[in-house]
Amino acid sequence: MPSYKYSVYSSAKRNVGGRRSGGGGGGRSGGKRRGDYIDPSRLIRVATPSQAVDYTPNHKFEDFAVDEVLKNNLAAKGYTVPSPIQDQTIPLGLAGRDVIGIANTGTGKTASFAVPVMQRLIHEPKSRALIVAPTRELAQQIEEECRSIAKGSGLTGAILIGGSGMGPQLRDLRNNPRIVIGTPGRIKDHLDRGTLKLHDVNMVVLDEVDRMLDMGFVADVTELLRELAPERQSFFFSATMDPRVQGLIRTFATDPETVSVKTGESSDHVNQDVVYYGGTSEKMAKLHDILLDPAVSKVIVFDETQRSVERLGQELVIRGFKADTIHGGKSQGQRIRALDNFKASKTTVLVATDVAARGIDVSDITHVVNFSMPQTYQDYTHRIGRAGRAGKVGHAITFVNK
Ligand code: AMP
Repeated sequence: MPSYKYSVYSSAKRNVGGRRSGGGGGGRSGGKRRGDYIDPSRLIRVATPSQAVDYTPNHKFEDFAVDEVLKNNLAAKGYTVPSPIQDQTIPLGLAGRDVIGIANTGTGKTASFAVPVMQRLIHEPKSRALIVAPTRELAQQIEEECRSIAKGSGLTGAILIGGSGMGPQLRDLRNNPRIVIGTPGRIKDHLDRGTLKLHDVNMVVLDEVDRMLDMGFVADVTELLRELAPERQSFFFSATMDPRVQGLIRTFATDPETVSVKTGESSDHVNQDVVYYGGTSEKMAKLHDILLDPAVSKVIVFDETQRSVERLGQELVIRGFKADTIHGGKSQGQRIRALDNFKASKTTVLVATDVAARGIDVSDITHVVNFSMPQTYQDYTHRIGRAGRAGKVGHAITFVNK
């Protein structure tokens, strides 16, 4: 049986700051949060990843009882050995069970729900699916993955995300899409306008439920779930299982099976250090030096506001770096382009605000630079978790004013 090299990080050994209450900025409840004081000593750590262990899956993709179209597409994507979450979730999904997946991004969770959902869509012509993600970027990534897995199946879809025009979305909706993917706010808008009906949707996926609730989407999500067909299959994915997530699942899932591949705090695999600076020009010079280091091959630089991000991005381009920016003031098209160029390494420095960086899953980011101090320690761990995905050790550097 083939094995899937799967990195298990040591479990969390410290309190990573209290769970954020209220809105997290970017969701409906919005609002600026009061910043915590973060002692710089908490920002210096040596990565403590545990040894990669072999997970021996019980299946190969070719063993799953799924349509040949799906099998061929999975093979064409190079998926032969299922990741642990796929190995455990796909059979449950194919058996029609409700599944709760406790998993971080980067574990292969998208295909773990996409395969059983696509299989049912292909074989049950009346079935429909709704996939909800907290951010536009994540919704976009899910759509790409679903599209490639279902290629040639003839399934129709619609992607409903904020920040992009209503026209194409309305056109896709008129075609009665079998699969609808989107963010809670825009899906709810379509529901309110009567342009989307969910009463015959019999499969639902909520991805990153905890983050969705952090962002203040609880009312929207609850309302969406209430609209669905009463006889349905549900997939809930979350990196954490707190009482709010449990409450939602208890209300909406039926006899769910839980699959957990949670691997401790994702920041355990990140080397963390600080850089002290005096004034603005020293700060800029130090950032310049960091970015010149050949080890810093792909980096997200966080700054505070849309304006400061834009200004810093321009300064870095003038200094000759392949830099771009991503923030909420950009159109959806610009954000997608920025992300695609970064993924394809056409740019190697992405300057971002916290909100815009949510849901970005680029596997080869080597460094995260906090050019401005995050508001809370939880924001800090979200930020630095972007570095060193897929079992690699990442690096985080935080600028601290002397
Ligand atoms: P996800 O957690 O779904 O965002 O997936 C993380 C990354 O792993 C994506 O780039 C996927 O294309 C890739 N991936 C997912 N499943 C597999 C697999 N079974 N074999 C190889 N790569 C995979």
